[in-house]
Amino acid sequence: MADTTSPYPNTELFIDGEWRSGTDGRVIDVVNPATEEVIGTVAHATKPDLDAALAAAERGASAWSAMSAYDRAKLMRHAADLLRSRAQDIAQIMTLEQGKPIVEAKMETLAGADIIDWFAEEARRTYGQIIPARAPGVTQMTLKLPVGPVAAFTPWNFPINQIVRKLSAALAAGCSIIVKAPEETPASPAELIRAFVDAGVPAGVVNLVYGVPSEISEYLIPHPVIRKISFTGSTPVGKHIAALAGQHMKLSTMELGGHAPAIVFADADIEKAVKVLVASKFRNAGQVCVSPTRFLVEESVYERVVDSFVTATREIRVGNGWDEGVQMGPLANPRRIPALEGLISDAVQRGSELKVGGRRIGNKGYFFEPTVLCNVPIEARIMNEEPFGPVAAFRSFRTLDEVITEANRLPFGLASYAFTSSSEKAHQLGLRIQAGMTTINHNGLALPEVPFGGIKESGYGTEGGSEAIGAYMTTKFVTRMDG
Ligand code: NAD
Repeated sequence: MADTTSPYPNTELFIDGEWRSGTDGRVIDVVNPATEEVIGTVAHATKPDLDAALAAAERGASAWSAMSAYDRAKLMRHAADLLRSRAQDIAQIMTLEQGKPIVEAKMETLAGADIIDWFAEEARRTYGQIIPARAPGVTQMTLKLPVGPVAAFTPWNFPINQIVRKLSAALAAGCSIIVKAPEETPASPAELIRAFVDAGVPAGVVNLVYGVPSEISEYLIPHPVIRKISFTGSTPVGKHIAALAGQHMKLSTMELGGHAPAIVFADADIEKAVKVLVASKFRNAGQVCVSPTRFLVEESVYERVVDSFVTATREIRVGNGWDEGVQMGPLANPRRIPALEGLISDAVQRGSELKVGGRRIGNKGYFFEPTVLCNVPIEARIMNEEPFGPVAAFRSFRTLDEVITEANRLPFGLASYAFTSSSEKAHQLGLRIQAGMTTINHNGLALPEVPFGGIKESGYGTEGGSEAIGAYMTTKFVTRMDG
């Protein structure tokens, strides 16, 4: 057993270039999900803190947008280098507060640096247009301008990754930002912000708050200083936030829940499909919005795929993410345990076969067994609600049309996975699956340079690729006649 007594920092708010406690002095406890011990605290913001952050963000937006894109990019790349050089320490902090294996936490931190670098480059390519005029002496052009101060709300499953996409795109566009980061996992986000502070980002450009999520969103979203909202979390909360943003005519990006189909055809490389899908399913204990959930396997290879998936599932080493060789940590919070137990018992009552797992492990720490259910009826809750945990639900299918109908049956449309050696099927799947992302014969999702986002009730907007920065900019048209 490794030493988990590494110091865990208490987290403060970061407002107007200063780390500070909340004005009312309240703090919220932070719990290690592997031990259930209180490991530290996070400061709690109230209205005076939010007012200070709003005033700072307004000043920060003026200072930052006045800086050249070239200089902004230089500062961002410096922040990326600092994050990279601190990745091991930050990973330890993240594992203590979130539970994921240190290797995954370090990968997330390094991927964060990669995302910052990519957006820093994009910052220099926010081109406008010159539009041919109808009359001599007229110049028509578009300018890409930063939208203004951003309010970003991010969840606990990827404490750095969820913020860094919003933060990097906003800063690259020339916006300031107030991040409401997760109270459950506050310290690793604070380290991300620290990298920007130490890189020399001016006061007010980046602000970090924690508190009661609904109180903060209900205060920031309608506030006239805030011009853009970006939210990642569940669909019900996303609908509420999007409605509030709409009521106040604020631009918004919504990255919400999913229920990804994972389709395996008989002509696929089955061994590879199982390997990729097991890794994708149990990464971060399944608490991933793009996690595969509905495993749809062609009838003739169904038994073989299920057996091989179950064998690989049994081999997963579950434990404290701090310990070497652990592949899956605990769930990040106790809410997920009854949620998963409810979904599994409902599936079993409706006739599904529980192949492996299905229960909490022990009674200390929020550990849950990697779980496989097969022959799950479509009416089972797990076939309709996002499990957000380490549970795979299998069903068989016969035809391409049948499986596409099933893939598209739900109101969600975030990620989708497929395995086939037929280029015709791959073409059909790419075209016809209703999802923001389809990955075929590998897991190629979530790189900084490719789109990341959903359709239908999974939200709107993209947090990756060349369009992501546009979500933080407005297009201004200027026409000028020679005077
Ligand atoms: P939840 O719906 O209570 O909260 C989800 C996130 O939204 C949390 O980060 C929370 O702090 C925030 N939130 C809640 N109410 C808010 C409000 N009024 N204003 C601003 N932020 C608010 O669920 P939970 O128990 O934290 O997580 C479970 C569910 O959330 C999962 O089933 C999953 O669907 C979803 N989730 C999705 C992602 C994702 O990456 N898309 C990440 C985490 C959680």
